[in-house]
Amino acid sequence: MKIFDSKSGELRDFVPISSGRVGIYVCGPTVQSVAHIGHLRSALSYDVMARWLTHLGNEVTLVRNVTDIDDKVLERAVEQKQNWWSLAYANELLFAADFRKLGIQAPSYEPRATGHIPQMLKLIATLIERGHAYRALDGSANVYFDTASWTSYGELTNQSPEDMDGQEASADKKRAQDFALWKAAKPNEPETASWDSEFGRGRPGWHIECSAMASHYLGENFDIHGGGLDLRFPHHENELAQSTAAGHDFANYWVHNGLVTVSGQKMSKSLGNSVHSSDLFALASAQTVRYYLSSAHYRSVLDYQPSVLSEAEAALGRILGFLERAGRELATTRFSEADSSIAIPAEFASEMNDDFNVPAALAVVHELVRSGNSDLDEQRLREAAQKRDQVTLMLEVLGLAPAQWESQLSSEHQALDSLVQALIAERDRARDAKDYATADRIRDQLSAAGIELADSQNQTHWSLS
Ligand SMILES: [Zn+2]
Repeated sequence: MKIFDSKSGELRDFVPISSGRVGIYVCGPTVQSVAHIGHLRSALSYDVMARWLTHLGNEVTLVRNVTDIDDKVLERAVEQKQNWWSLAYANELLFAADFRKLGIQAPSYEPRATGHIPQMLKLIATLIERGHAYRALDGSANVYFDTASWTSYGELTNQSPEDMDGQEASADKKRAQDFALWKAAKPNEPETASWDSEFGRGRPGWHIECSAMASHYLGENFDIHGGGLDLRFPHHENELAQSTAAGHDFANYWVHNGLVTVSGQKMSKSLGNSVHSSDLFALASAQTVRYYLSSAHYRSVLDYQPSVLSEAEAALGRILGFLERAGRELATTRFSEADSSIAIPAEFASEMNDDFNVPAALAVVHELVRSGNSDLDEQRLREAAQKRDQVTLMLEVLGLAPAQWESQLSSEHQALDSLVQALIAERDRARDAKDYATADRIRDQLSAAGIELADSQNQTHWSLS
């Protein structure tokens, strides 16, 4: 299998550090507000990667952190007259609910930055000891990474420190590029937002959080580090510098998911064009949203427009329609049960092994759906059953299989199903008794309520029209 490593800028053969085990660290959200489409896409990209690596037989450990303290969290809490920690936790719960709704599997662990202050302080002390960090020149509790001491600084994004954007000079640091590892407590910030340390009271810089948590859970050398493309610089550049300067080998592969634009524009608070999870879930089912977000290659820019969800719904509907039809038409044949000897098609596997090429893998699914429908048309039942099983296996890997979603159906849907099934049974009895007036009345009644019936040989299926 090949993975595009953004550090080397090329597709590389993926070889885990220890065979059969894969460790992935993904930068999770800063929880100052609720999830937008970019957060969902990022978490989903790594979910699909973890599912595929698991399918290949690996034991995957995926660690996705929560940044629960930072300037934005503190600012937002002041605006909302709330404790920063309860604001962060409330948003963390909302993120988790959105992720669960999208069928994103819970990571192996989800460490919070505030729970790992000792590990961060230890890493900072190591950097000072090795001559790669220094205490603020003005005697405050700030501690900075000494970029001049680390000649590899800039290696992730291939930049020389002089060309880097967004560096602010200040009197207490040696160079503008030097970034904070520990930030002195500010008098206007709440007491709960700082911790005692040998450098003085303060809180961690953002970058050191991920360096410390990644090595704490995955070791000083692990397989894959992921995150959104917007995190490459400065966040990941700085993580890499800190960890390698501390003597860690750190990540063997760097993976970055592409960003989401909205009608061709960058999503930003000032433009007011952010698309939140609630906007998506109001327009389409969570299963459709998942299909949509995973249908573009994870590295490409995903341009969101409201119409794309109905296209995704139609595409997903073709796949699910085939499975439903095959289920119905094969129910009373000797092909009613799935054949456990059927494997995932090789074409699908080779697309997934090519840097998780989900759009090409979905094309394989659609091709089998088309030919599976023809098999059903022509009564080639064995072939149709085989395609039903292959499509199901592929959907399982992508987290889109019907069985994975049925368990998530709302209690409203389940209640509706039991009522409709009772009416279908009553209609069957009326038809058996040749009471077609009653049978038609039941069908019309359901139709007026927006429920359509489709009769097959032995079964009646219902759907919302
Ligand atoms: Zn991070």
